[in-house]
Amino acid sequence: MLRKMIVVGCLAVLPHLAGAAEWKSGIVWEKPPVVEGTKPTTTPAPEGAIVLFDGKDLSQFNGAENWTVKDGYMQAGKGSITTKQPFGSCKIHLEFATPAKVEGEGQGRGNSGVIFMTKYELQILDSYNNETYYDGQCGSVYKQNPPMRNVCLPPGEWQSYDITFLAPKFDENGKLVRAARMTAYQNGELIQNSFELKGNTFWHLPPSYTAHEAKLPLLLQDHGNPIRFRNIWIQEIEE
Ligand code: MG
Repeated sequence: MLRKMIVVGCLAVLPHLAGAAEWKSGIVWEKPPVVEGTKPTTTPAPEGAIVLFDGKDLSQFNGAENWTVKDGYMQAGKGSITTKQPFGSCKIHLEFATPAKVEGEGQGRGNSGVIFMTKYELQILDSYNNETYYDGQCGSVYKQNPPMRNVCLPPGEWQSYDITFLAPKFDENGKLVRAARMTAYQNGELIQNSFELKGNTFWHLPPSYTAHEAKLPLLLQDHGNPIRFRNIWIQEIEE
């Protein structure tokens, strides 16, 4: 478990976004240890799983007009994409590759994300020799919890996420009765262990919950970098 020290929540104004202010947790985390040479999982979709992308087409997604399919993978274009089918608690497998050609740094290098219910992000980033705030690096629950370890492979190499997400529950008055939880493996290594989310993973606000439907689309983020994805399947978890 990473030790942490609460310093102070802070607002930092980004000069390139007039009027917009970024929120950062202010938590000083220990640097997640780096583990080299991990191996991605390439599990095929089990029987009964919902195949979201089998290398052929983007028919399971909305907003994918500017994304492209080639050689069995899809590549992010302008605009995030969302699944046509909504999901609540689920288990997902996907494989991703950050661009082989390194451009940008920090949050600008190989950024995407798996965003459950369009609200709860497990970060995708090229965190191979690319430092950023630890609760924003690859495998973080964005701005809430760093990965337990940095298992990123070099840019351009295929990596895997196997993620179990338990959806939050709200009562009839909209009050949170159970927080969301996430367990995630990157390249077969545990990086999030039943982490209890504090709410939406915003860029500009501290996390908070707002009541929402029991099922919502899954979003794959466009953050301006040509991330590739392949072999995406999902299993709903009945609770
Ligand atoms: Mg992201």
